[in-house]
Parts: sequence; C-alpha cells; structure tokens
Amino acid sequence: MRVLSTLFLILGIFLTANAKINVVTTYPYIKSIVKEIAKDKVNVSSLSDGKWDPHFVPARPSLVVKLRNADLLIINGTQIEIGWLPPLLKRANNGKILPGKAGFLDLSTLFELIQKPQVVSRAFGDVHPQGNPHFYLDPVKIPKMAEAIKEKLCALDTKNCSFYEENLKSFEKSWNNHLTKWNKKMKKLEGSNAFEYHRMFDYFFLRYKINVAGTLEPFPGIPPTTSHLLKLIQFAKSHKVSFIAYAVYNPKDPVEFLSKKTGIKAILFPHDVNSLPQVKDIYSLFDEIVRRLTE
Ligand SMILES: [Zn+2]
Repeated sequence: MRVLSTLFLILGIFLTANAKINVVTTYPYIKSIVKEIAKDKVNVSSLSDGKWDPHFVPARPSLVVKLRNADLLIINGTQIEIGWLPPLLKRANNGKILPGKAGFLDLSTLFELIQKPQVVSRAFGDVHPQGNPHFYLDPVKIPKMAEAIKEKLCALDTKNCSFYEENLKSFEKSWNNHLTKWNKKMKKLEGSNAFEYHRMFDYFFLRYKINVAGTLEPFPGIPPTTSHLLKLIQFAKSHKVSFIAYAVYNPKDPVEFLSKKTGIKAILFPHDVNSLPQVKDIYSLFDEIVRRLTE
C-alpha cells in the first residue's frame, strides 16, 4: 500500500511538473499572439469567436468551464468586456484569474487610449465609456502586447521562460518585416477620408493618416438613425470620401443605403482573427485589412 501511494505521489509530482498551463483569452487576436510566443507549451483558448460582436459575447456554459480551469486570463480591457465577462467570472469562481491576481493580464493598461470622453458615462448606451478600446487594430502596438504576454508566461511557467523569450525575439523580427510591407502599401491612402460603421478601425486609420469623417452609429453602440445617415450623405456631397468600413457583425442595410445614396464603396474589414475564413492569425488579420484597402 505504501509503495502504491509513493508511486502515485511521484506520478503526481511528475504530472504537475509537466502539465501545461491553461491560458484563456477574451478574443481570438490575443490567442494568436499567445500562440506566437508559447507555441505548443501552453493550452490556449478564446472566449469570444472572431465573428461575434466583441462588446456582447453570449454567456455560454462552456465559457464558464474554460474560466474555471484557467491559470491565466488575458483580456483586452477598457470596459469592452464589461457587459459579458464579470458574470462569467463570478460563475467560474476561480480566484487565480481575477483582476489584480498573478493569473490576470489586462492589455489596455499598456497604452494611452484615444477618444476618452470628458465625462465617464454610459448615457445613450455608449459602449466606449473609457475611450476607444480597439487599440489592437494598430499593428505597431502588437509587439508590446507580445512582450507583456511573454513576461506573464515567464512568471507563471518559469521552466519554459527562455523558450518564450526566444519566440518573442523571432516574432518581433518577423512582425517588423511585415510592418515595413504594410507601411509601404498604405502610403497611398494617406490623407483620404473614410466613413465607418462603428469606431472599430480608428487606431488603424490614425496610424496610416486616414481621416474618419463620420460614423454610421451616432454614438458607439447606438444603431444608425435616418437623420444621422442624411447628415453623412450631405457631408459626402461636398467632400471626397474614399470608402465605408464595416465589420462582419454590423447590420448591412444602413451600410448599403449609405453606399447607394453616395456612390461610395463599402468595404468589409476583418475586426479580429477568425472573423473571415482567410484571417487565421494575427498576421493575416492585417494582411487582409491592407489587401482590401489597397487592391
Ligand atoms: Zn467598440
């Protein structure tokens, strides 16, 4: 009996030493960055699907199970998850991954955000009460997120830290090569005007000096009204607007209405990894946005 329990003890220690940590991310783009750094050394899954509205992820029991078993939770932050993540965390009852704990990382703390309202309020249903949370659509910001993820993985999984460090270095190199390519292609759009459905691509447009001349939503998260669309149509009569940007989860009718009335082409952009079949990772997310704008 003693031999058997010793055997189980040794087996237990062996399994613990070799067990992979479970990483849960709120969005697929974060999962993709984790995979670049950790490869197959961790289990990683995303709560949201890339095709869903990131502000309102449906609360499914499977998401609670993922959170219950997580060693590390990485979120986008800035209240984009406020409408759906807290109830899931409560049900998961996992003290390791709560804000402030070692198993928690909020990527929004790395950056200065744009469009911070003067007064923090959810009046009118504004879904960006602390500023624009879609900062990850600026490709220049990705390496900083990768570095923060590497640091967190090193802290939680010290035995693989040098592996994560090596992967970060090669990721940074490869990312910079891609950036050079994207920057070159995007040059020709500098100074152009765009309409967009939601304030989703503002960080991308800001990076490449594209001016957001108006949004179909009168406020972030508020559906377009006829009077608001008429204002955009009026604007387009006296200004050149190059395209209308929208995401897979945005209603198409107001986009098509505006496009038809103004003759401005509407372009569907991927807003996250897996939002379109060809967007399989963090690289192809930007490859596809740039391709749709420049080809
Ligand atoms: Zn938003």
